[in-house]
Amino acid sequence: MSTSTVKVSVSALAKSFDKLEVLRDVNLEVSSGEVVVILGPSGSGKTTLLRSLNFLEQPDSGCIRVCDQQIDVRSGIALSRQDRQAITRLRQKTAMVFQSFNLFPHKTALENVTEGLISVRKVTKEVAHDRGMALLKQVGLQDKAGSYPAKLSGGQKQRVAIARGLAMDPEVIFFDEPTSALDPELRDEVLTVMRDLAKAGMTMIVVTHELRFAREVADRVVFMEGGVVVANQSPEVFFNANSSPRIQQFLSKY
Ligand code: ADP
Ligand code: MG
Repeated sequence: MSTSTVKVSVSALAKSFDKLEVLRDVNLEVSSGEVVVILGPSGSGKTTLLRSLNFLEQPDSGCIRVCDQQIDVRSGIALSRQDRQAITRLRQKTAMVFQSFNLFPHKTALENVTEGLISVRKVTKEVAHDRGMALLKQVGLQDKAGSYPAKLSGGQKQRVAIARGLAMDPEVIFFDEPTSALDPELRDEVLTVMRDLAKAGMTMIVVTHELRFAREVADRVVFMEGGVVVANQSPEVFFNANSSPRIQQFLSKY
């Protein structure tokens, strides 16, 4: 795999909260255009891994490279100014979609999408408006541009959150259980948007419990348990009846 096609590379990542080891020697590589789904029981470190990738959580040690920005974290050594600049650039090239949407309640759907364009990217209101409307159309919400989050369903809110992430033109999107807060009948509209993004070639790391999505959309499935990557394989292999007993046991709970 040539370096230029690798969007995310994690090596020897470790993280503890006090005495609790949450990530242990995690290694992961994601190529441009790949969709990697991370599965695993609750508490296995999935969220901590995702948050470590853009330093919402600071790992204790390990190397993280996202979109050509590399940060080597060494135990007990503070990040340098160069590291912090690399983190800022890394964040500009990634988007994160959370279970809880995190929309601004006092802004309309369109304003939520254009907020970063106006405040961070400093584009004009007109340009932001046109881009915001195009993104709302892409997620099927052009008729909800003027609605406030309180008037939107959970599925609609999550689609606004995805459009907001896309507004910053990310090279990679991290999803942390994007459908877990939604009623089952609202999940598909979000999964469809994610499926379309995958088809369009977006690089995506998706923590989810949606096994069908993993089976149909993932290029690779990563299974985590106890802070360790236990399996990292194609969905064909992962969902095969001959996969490991632990994976069989995990899958049998669904
Ligand atoms: P998952 O997303 O797979 O459910 P998490 O990464 O959220 O797992 O959590 C992994 C472990 O780390 C859990 O035992 C959790 O309680 C613990 N943990 C997560 N965040 C914190 C924190 N900020 N402080 C202390 N413990 C935490
Ligand atoms: Mg989690």
